[in-house]
Amino acid sequence: MLKLTAIEVVAGIKSGAISCEELVSQAYEQIAKNDLNSYITLNKENALETARDVDKRRRGRGEEELERKKLLGVPIAIKDSISTMGIQTTCASNILTGYVPPYDATVIEALKREGAIIIGKTNMDEFCMGTSTETSYYGATKNPHDTTRVPGGSSGGSAVAVSAGEAILALGSDTGGSIRCPASFCGIVGLKPTYGLVSRYGLIAYGNSLEQIGPMAATVADTALLLEVISVKDDRDSTQVKLKNNGGTNTDTDTDTNTNTNTNYCCSWLNLSEINELDGMRIGVPVEFFEGCSREVEKSVWAAIHVFEDSGATYEEISMQNLKYALASYYIIAMSEASSNLARFDGLRYGLRSGTDEDWHTTFSRIRAEGFGAEVKRRIILGTYSLSAGYYGRYYLKALKVRTLIKAEFEKALKTHDILMMPTMPFVAFKLGERIKDPLSLYLADINTVSINLAGVPSISVPCGYVSSDTLPVGLQIVGKHFEEDRILKAAFEYEKLRIKSRKNTL
Ligand code: GLN
Repeated sequence: MLKLTAIEVVAGIKSGAISCEELVSQAYEQIAKNDLNSYITLNKENALETARDVDKRRRGRGEEELERKKLLGVPIAIKDSISTMGIQTTCASNILTGYVPPYDATVIEALKREGAIIIGKTNMDEFCMGTSTETSYYGATKNPHDTTRVPGGSSGGSAVAVSAGEAILALGSDTGGSIRCPASFCGIVGLKPTYGLVSRYGLIAYGNSLEQIGPMAATVADTALLLEVISVKDDRDSTQVKLKNNGGTNTDTDTDTNTNTNTNYCCSWLNLSEINELDGMRIGVPVEFFEGCSREVEKSVWAAIHVFEDSGATYEEISMQNLKYALASYYIIAMSEASSNLARFDGLRYGLRSGTDEDWHTTFSRIRAEGFGAEVKRRIILGTYSLSAGYYGRYYLKALKVRTLIKAEFEKALKTHDILMMPTMPFVAFKLGERIKDPLSLYLADINTVSINLAGVPSISVPCGYVSSDTLPVGLQIVGKHFEEDRILKAAFEYEKLRIKSRKNTL
């Protein structure tokens, strides 16, 4: 049953064809059988109890409230950077061992309101810092397509959960590629929303000017459905852009009487197939994104672009000159923000606490030394350096200026083109242990994803084939204008249909 889409599950549970309890039990059986280290904490007892309740209430019938729920009974995996009331939330760090949040993130409240069932908290790079899910205090996660390889990161556990039948949907967070990279390496769909679309309330901050929570799923329609559910208006996140609901149902804020009324975002998954948007669509292909790519990835992505062309879209190769500064700018900004955000972890307020010392700063230092892993320490040190007097202008300020140039470059490219396309990652999933000892080689892997976070535009990664004797997935990245998630979702949706059709023809 874990091969079903969320849309099918909701229909099956509402009609009585599917037992929610059986579905949820199957997810846990699969987790135990797979042994991929994709979860840090399981929510088993709670999830099974909720599932039984769904089955019981459904049998009672007449529950109109249940009928309206958009994710009724759908098993979902949650990245461990997102706060869940009553469930341990560690951000894959020893310093948060045993931390149980007393409140839910806004996205979690939304999921519960719509009837989703939380299977557990997924493994990730410590504090989202990484590209391979190998910096976790809880050990590395394995790629289900080849267990000697990484699943990508930092939302690796979430991608594996969806790809290996351990949940039907997942939430990830993306600061510089953390949703799209693992989606690409694990052969699923992942979307980084426009900065300011989804509330970050309850997301443990790493680089807060860059990151967004976003949906991960096996299909584009499920991705759109989950995005619709989590894009709720939230006054607790002042960086959220309050949009008018142009679906016309309601323009007011926050009322809970109708589940539609607090939707911030109006692209309903139901609208996905309405028009064939590919006809006449103008695609920009920035050549710089192909520069460091493996031949195989380049070939798959170009084949995908030609599928769009064959369906009536036009493409043009363009150049984005400032992209070569994106990685340097991203890492300076992300590390600077991290050095400030992570100051709050001192062992007194959250998580890890051990021993006694003669004064507080000895305690802080000792607990931070014990609690943080090597990559996190490296970034706190580098970030503190780039923010310090004397270096601020030379590094941090300069990185901000470059960011403005990159944002302008994206806006220019997206004036003359509806969407942009490029590979999500320059290569397919690499071997476990291959890059972790050389941090720079990992940073370089983010070359195609970080610029999109600097610009704040939305981007989706959708599977576009396999390489290496058909085992390792490749991801196509589609980028849109600010708040035009509907356009990239529609493009990905059409492409997914065409690809399935063309695969069937060749079989
Ligand atoms: N790999 C990038 C980093 O380590 C991006 C991670 C992320 O998006 N959270 O910063």
